[in-house]
Amino acid sequence: MYQLPEKIKLRKESQGDVHIYYVRHEEIGDLGRIVLSEYMGQSHFSSEVCGNPNDPLTQKRLEIFKPIAEDLIEEVSKQLKSPSQDIPLGSYKPEAKSSEHFVESQLLCCIKCNTPVCRIVYTHKNTQADIEDYYRLVFKEFKKFDILTYIVGLVDTYTEQVLVLKAYPQRDEKPEKIDANIFDVKVQNMQSGHCGV
Ligand SMILES: [Zn+2]
Repeated sequence: MYQLPEKIKLRKESQGDVHIYYVRHEEIGDLGRIVLSEYMGQSHFSSEVCGNPNDPLTQKRLEIFKPIAEDLIEEVSKQLKSPSQDIPLGSYKPEAKSSEHFVESQLLCCIKCNTPVCRIVYTHKNTQADIEDYYRLVFKEFKKFDILTYIVGLVDTYTEQVLVLKAYPQRDEKPEKIDANIFDVKVQNMQSGHCGV
C-alpha cells in the first residue's frame, strides 16, 4: 500500500462512481484533491491544487502535492487493475498510463474569503477537438463540484490568444478564441469581485 509522506493526511469521499481524495498537510493545510471518476468504462483522474495562481504558497503546495498525486494515482490505478475490485476487468484500459488521465486543473478562490469562484481545466493543447475531448473526460465532475468551470487550451505564443470553453453550469456551444490577458483579467475580477474587494 502506498505510504503517505510525513505530515500528510488523506481523506476519501465517494459519491456514485466519483471518488475524491483530499490531501492535507499538517502545517500548511489543504494541498489539493484528486478526483477519480468512471466514464464509459474508463477511469479518469484529475487533480487540482488549492489556491490562487498569484499566491506564492500555491507554488509550495503544488511542489508537495504533485508527487503525492502522481504516486496516489499510480497506486489507485494498480488497485483498479486488481481482479479483487468490484470494477469488472474489462472496464478500464490496462495499457493506458495514469498520466494520460492526469488532468491539470485549478480552483480559483475569492482573494478575501477563499470561497472557490471558478475552476479552470488546462488542456495544454490548442484545437477545438482537444477541448471537446477534455470536456468529455471531465464533465461528470462538473455536477459534483457544482462550480463555474472553464476549459482552456494552450496560449498561442505569437498571437497570445487562447481557446476557452465555458463548460459549466451552462456550456457554451463552442470554444471562444480570446486574448489570454483578457481572460486572466476576467478571472481575477471574479476573484476580487466575490467579496467586492
Ligand atoms: Zn469572497
